[in-house]
Amino acid sequence: MLSQPIVLASHNLGKLQEISAILSPLQIELISQSKLNISEIEETGLSFVENAIIKARHAARYTGLAAIADDSGLEVDSLNGEPGIYSARYAGLGASDQQNLEKLLEMLKETPETQRHARYQCFIVYMHHWQDPTPLICQGTWEGHILAIPQGNGGFGYDPIFYLPNHQCTAAQLSAAEKNRYSHRGKALTALLTALNYKKN
Ligand code: IMP
Repeated sequence: MLSQPIVLASHNLGKLQEISAILSPLQIELISQSKLNISEIEETGLSFVENAIIKARHAARYTGLAAIADDSGLEVDSLNGEPGIYSARYAGLGASDQQNLEKLLEMLKETPETQRHARYQCFIVYMHHWQDPTPLICQGTWEGHILAIPQGNGGFGYDPIFYLPNHQCTAAQLSAAEKNRYSHRGKALTALLTALNYKKN
């Protein structure tokens, strides 16, 4: 076990469980920033990686601990990469997952099936301390295309319309373990696991 815990720059319990599970071989104690009374910081970056750095730096600065942050979203090719970094607020600040999904379906209603290619992006940043000049940056992507009609009840966000040709189902129809194995976040976390192991040895 590493001597100091690591703070996760997120209030999302699901993410804490997902990230803790994948990083469990490192025997890291991961603590959510909300447990340490750290507020969320505004995501003012113009790229996923900037936003992940902003969040990790903030958490490291106000806890004095090493920090992990992720930033993720959906890029649709025919919409020039929208909603991208605005995925969580596509239908406006405070919009629900359902409202964001409906806005995307509306934006794509004239787009033929052959032009609905999309990918999830995930960037994970690990900072040893808040002024770390060489943060670890890991990326994962997951390719799919956007259905016109939602299918499945699992996952969250855009999962019910994110169709995976290789699996012949949507991300919302995979089990949580399958999603962790194939997803953008799973891939970025696996890369982080390798990078942290490398640092430790
Ligand atoms: P954040 O990384 O928590 O800021 O998430 C950004 C947004 O991207 C989420 O609110 C979702 O709308 C979308 N998103 C990111 N990852 C996923 C996923 O695995 N499934 C569905 N939507 C996702």
